[in-house]
Amino acid sequence: MAKRVPVIAGNWKMNTDVESGLKLVKDILDLSKDFSGVDKIVCPPFISITSVAQALSGSSIQVGAQNVSANPDGAFTGEVSTSMLRGFISYAIVGHSERRAMNGETSAMVAEKAIAAANAGINPIVCVGEDLEVRKAGNAERYVAKQLEESLAGYTDWDSLIVAYEPVWAIGTGEAATSEQAQQMTHACREVIRKLAPEAADSVRVLYGGSVNSGNVVELMDQPDIDGALVGGASLKADEFSKLIAAASAS
Ligand code: PEP
Repeated sequence: MAKRVPVIAGNWKMNTDVESGLKLVKDILDLSKDFSGVDKIVCPPFISITSVAQALSGSSIQVGAQNVSANPDGAFTGEVSTSMLRGFISYAIVGHSERRAMNGETSAMVAEKAIAAANAGINPIVCVGEDLEVRKAGNAERYVAKQLEESLAGYTDWDSLIVAYEPVWAIGTGEAATSEQAQQMTHACREVIRKLAPEAADSVRVLYGGSVNSGNVVELMDQPDIDGALVGGASLKADEFSKLIAAASAS
C-alpha cells in the first residue's frame, strides 16, 4: 500500500481581509518552505482567494475554498460556483459543522457539493462530526458513520476525496479529542469508505480537526488512521501553522 501523503489544511473562516491574508500566506511560505512531503493548504475567505492564489502560484502551498455551490450558475444570491473557482483553488471544504449548523446544510446537500467540486476537478474535503450530546449518549461512531455515508451519496471520485472528522465539541474550544478518540473515529470514517468503495479505503486521506495545535499534532498524527489536520484557530498564526506543517512533514 502506498503511503498516504499527509495534509495540513487551514480554514481561515471569516477572518483576515485581503491585505492581512496576503501577509499571512507570505509568512507561512517563508516559515514552511523547507518542509516537503506534506500537502499544505490554506482556505481563505472568498474575497481573498484570487489574490492569495496569485501570491502562492508556483509555490508548495495550495488554495482551497471554505464552501462551494452545488449549482453551476443562476439565481443563487451570495453563492459561488465551482466554475468560478476553478483555476484558483485545488480543494474545497464542504459540510463544515458551522455551515451545517448555521446555514442549514444537510448531508444530502453536502454530497451534491462534493460531487460538483469533484466534477470540476476540485478535491472536496468532506467534514463530519458529532456534537457533545451525541457523544455523551455513546452514539458518536454510529452518528458519524451515517453522516459520512449520507454526505457521500452518489460520490464516485475516490482519488480526489479527503474526509475530515471534526467533533463539534472540539472545534474552537481548545479541547481537542484525545488521540484514542480521534483514532477510533477516523478509523470508523475509513470503514465507511471501505463499505462504499473497498479499493479506495486505504488511499483516501482522513483528517482530524478540532483544536489542533503544535502541542498535540504529533500524537494525533501518530495514529494509524489520521493523515493530517484541518485547522481553524492555529491556521491564522504563521508560526503555529508552520509548526503543524513541520510535524506532518516529519510524520
Ligand atoms: C475548524 O473549524 O475546522 C477547526 C478545526 O477549528 P479549530 O482548529 O479552531 O478548532
